[in-house]
Amino acid sequence: MAEAPGWAHSLVLQVCSEADAPLPRLSWRNRDRPTSSGVTRQSAGAISLVAGRDPLDQRLTLLHELAHWLTPLPPRRRGRSRHHDAAFYTRAFALYRRHGVPDAVALAGESMRYPSALGHARALGFPGAQAAWRERRSRLRERARRRPPMRILVQEHVVRLVRDGRWTRCAVCGVRVVGPVLRRLRRRSGRHVLMGIT
Ligand SMILES: [Zn+2]
Ligand SMILES: [Zn+2]
Repeated sequence: MAEAPGWAHSLVLQVCSEADAPLPRLSWRNRDRPTSSGVTRQSAGAISLVAGRDPLDQRLTLLHELAHWLTPLPPRRRGRSRHHDAAFYTRAFALYRRHGVPDAVALAGESMRYPSALGHARALGFPGAQAAWRERRSRLRERARRRPPMRILVQEHVVRLVRDGRWTRCAVCGVRVVGPVLRRLRRRSGRHVLMGIT
């Protein structure tokens, strides 16, 4: 474990004192890779950073974790916490601007890790977000256009469940049935159709 650099300690101090928040323990490791990553454990009072080579990305990552530190965790839904939500990004993008991460770097760094960040940035009117969001949307559309169309491989039919080792399949079309769909079909019969690419 390396000692966190001085600028990181000052940044933590500045952000927390401006927000009137307690200080987290900051642990720091260096890795020979381009980008950084971090974890914030509010219950343990700690932020851990694995710092990559890019100093600006280190700053972005530390501020991202500080935004977690300052944002109360939303209630868990279906066991997964939605911690990259609008409230989080409102805080995070404000911290990036205030503490010297250029807008373009903030957008690129966030959207590379969390595509949903673009939508939040756009809703916040963050500079460049609208253009980046449009570009991403047209890229996705282009990719969808290049995909061959889905066709009906097996016409709609009543599902007939059969065991296949540790799996359950539909005996008519052979498709594997799992999870909530399987539970529902065990309770009462249902129909489905098999779509695919020929
Ligand atoms: Zn995060
Ligand atoms: Zn079937």
